[in-house]
Amino acid sequence: MKAIVKTREEVGFELLDVPVPRVGDDDVLIKVKAAAICGSDLKFYKWVPWCKNVIKSLPFIPGHECCGEVVEIGKNVEGIKLGDKVAAETHVPCGVCWQCRHNRPHTCEKMELFGHSIDGGFCEYALIPDRAARKVPDEIPYEYGCLLEPMGIPYRAVEIGEVEKDAVVVIGCGPIGQFAIAFSKILGAEIIIGIDVNEKRLKIAEKMGATYLINPEKESVVKRVKDITREYGGGAGVIIDASGNAKAVKEAFSYLRVGGNFVILGQTDGPLPLNPSVDIVFKEAKIMGLFGRRIWDTWEKTEKLLLSKKMNPEPVITHRFSLDDYEKAFQVALSGEGCKVLFIP
Ligand SMILES: [Zn+2]
Ligand SMILES: [Zn+2]
Repeated sequence: MKAIVKTREEVGFELLDVPVPRVGDDDVLIKVKAAAICGSDLKFYKWVPWCKNVIKSLPFIPGHECCGEVVEIGKNVEGIKLGDKVAAETHVPCGVCWQCRHNRPHTCEKMELFGHSIDGGFCEYALIPDRAARKVPDEIPYEYGCLLEPMGIPYRAVEIGEVEKDAVVVIGCGPIGQFAIAFSKILGAEIIIGIDVNEKRLKIAEKMGATYLINPEKESVVKRVKDITREYGGGAGVIIDASGNAKAVKEAFSYLRVGGNFVILGQTDGPLPLNPSVDIVFKEAKIMGLFGRRIWDTWEKTEKLLLSKKMNPEPVITHRFSLDDYEKAFQVALSGEGCKVLFIP
């Protein structure tokens, strides 16, 4: 089968012909119908220093956001049959550690990561351990099915951010930010401000439900947010960072309303200099981080929103490529010219 493979500790991938994986007793084999490029796949492409923390060994097949049709199942697998539509949960829990035993398998201490520590879905046939295989309702198209994974984290952010009737700021309008905007609207936010330097992405943010758009290269974010939120206590009640930009996060503390919630999703290696008394104590700020989806609670919720068509991810999908055109696909994704880039193997 065709597979995009990371073979060397340097920039780029290779398209190789590799054997279809052998199905173990607890595995599900899918014919991949759609897979999406995530920010972490771009890091693997560029091979930044961070990769060494998550990658055990080379070669490996990247791509953790994928959905396909079940073509083979192991003998211990229950609840999934041939022909089912299945998406992969990236966090493959061990089932026995403290986190797993306390209803937190998504933060498992020994978790395997589909598409990172084990082979992923940028290929024709992907092997998913049954504990990470999510049967997706037939009515959800494959292209949307592969987006359930990246939708999960912004959904949780909006959920714990308590956005209802409030003014929400979403920093960074990549796919995660776009989904955070859409879920904020669905969960009843009144003002939704999308911030990005990329005008194309700001246009998509508007389609996803942003009521105000700010380009920090064109105007002062702090002043504009304070103006817009005058009737909401002069600041954002909820801030969701999907940018991973430490400078933007630092700045956001100055427009976080007293008593506001700050949910940080963006992953950055840079330090975040805060003044605890000004930024946190007197603000009574609630600062939260998120990593992963509640298994399977978050999936159930986002699936329902896709089924009811309240959530329409279509504007976020800007490009589709075959595996043969992988180099082009990664160049588009790296350039920021599009938003979500899919492979249709
Ligand atoms: Zn991802
Ligand atoms: Zn565990």
